[in-house]
Amino acid sequence: MNVLIIGAGAAGSVVAKKCAMNKDIFTNIHLASRSVSKCKANQKWIKERLGVDISVSAVDADNVAETVALINQVKPDLVINMALPYQDLAIMDACLETKTHYMDTANYEPIDEAKFEYHWQWAYQERFKEAGIMAILGCGFDPGQTNIYCSYAQKNLFDEIHEIDIIDCNAGDHGKAFATNFNPEINLREVTQNGKYWENGEWVHTEPLEFYKDIDFPAVGEKRGYLLYHEELESLCQNIKGLKRIRFWMTFGDAYITHMEVLQNVGMTRIDPVMHDGKEIVPIQFLKTLLPEPSSLAEGYTGKTSIGCIITGVKDDETKTHFIYNVCDHAKTHKEVEAQAVSYTTGVPPTTGAILIAKGLWNPGPGVWNVEQLDPDPFMEEVAKQGLPWESKELPEGLGDLTQRRAKYDKKVA
Ligand code: NDP
Repeated sequence: MNVLIIGAGAAGSVVAKKCAMNKDIFTNIHLASRSVSKCKANQKWIKERLGVDISVSAVDADNVAETVALINQVKPDLVINMALPYQDLAIMDACLETKTHYMDTANYEPIDEAKFEYHWQWAYQERFKEAGIMAILGCGFDPGQTNIYCSYAQKNLFDEIHEIDIIDCNAGDHGKAFATNFNPEINLREVTQNGKYWENGEWVHTEPLEFYKDIDFPAVGEKRGYLLYHEELESLCQNIKGLKRIRFWMTFGDAYITHMEVLQNVGMTRIDPVMHDGKEIVPIQFLKTLLPEPSSLAEGYTGKTSIGCIITGVKDDETKTHFIYNVCDHAKTHKEVEAQAVSYTTGVPPTTGAILIAKGLWNPGPGVWNVEQLDPDPFMEEVAKQGLPWESKELPEGLGDLTQRRAKYDKKVA
């Protein structure tokens, strides 16, 4: 397969390295990004450590004509978009124009509004069908691997699924007072927005990080998970048959929440322009400039991520709960590809998806697909080989109802 990877940040670098580790499949690898220096650093590492040549270039993926020219030059079978969600539609437009398959790990988000919704990308359905090409959406870890855990459970473990709780814990320590594990701007936009979950066909809205649960995570122990909205809820509530409720939980340490709330209180997470010294600046973009790049956290990062899906449903008339999860070690991923585990868990699934496309095992036909609509079995087999082994175990019960609410919201109830 001839692959074009756009975005040479923390996660895109992992994709480039993992593709190079599968040189039998990826006969040509091209890495392009806004800053060509980051592509060149990966090119050098890949040559020195793996003995593989990749080609690189600079591209501004917001500019459709520039991406079209790059695709026409590289002639890839697949474009893997590892840039930011803001670029999704422009890269999809370039894929349409050049009739090239597309894959990403995060849904489109307009830069001036923190809204993670699939409708902008689902609207490409007919055009992708007419062009005879596939767009595979959300093939990272969450979304991505977590969606596939759900479709695997639907196919192999249940007659019908009723409840899903996606639980995401990074119990790692990067030694910094405050940093985000993926792009700071995208991360803070996600975490500071209102929460919501889906129940009985409707969205139930919450305040930001209003509810929490103390969850016992494999390999890392009990951590406090906060209920927030995450984009895979939107497609899974449509694609998992019989589903009655789906929620998403992410752990944050007290120090992270305190920093985030202070930043929010002083206006540093605002996404609208403000005047500063006679110039317009967007506070969250300025904050991104000050915070460490996620790729820079990898060295010395200790601890593990522990992410999975607790799924309750019915099998042979009996109610069952299964938990499917992965544990990933920051130090091990650093040793393998000089990346921390959050970038690694984001980069291995799209590499795996691309391998399945190359082998003809993921071939749903032209159109726009979320990953849970594709066959989970070959993915589950391949992703374990590529570095993300998973476990599945039965639990006595699911995660239960919302009972724990942060004290700061208490006065609203009274
Ligand atoms: P980074 O900020 O480390 O990397 C993003 C890269 O995209 C940077 O190298 C940046 O270039 C490049 N880029 C930005 N704008 C453009 C543009 N207009 N044209 C070309 N390149 C551009 O972020 P991450 O690697 O952490 O995240 C990458 C993607 O992965 C994001 O979409 C994120 O939402 C997604 N993600 C998905 C997860 C999942 O599990 N599904 C988890 C974590 C992340 P420059 O270096 O010049 O700034």
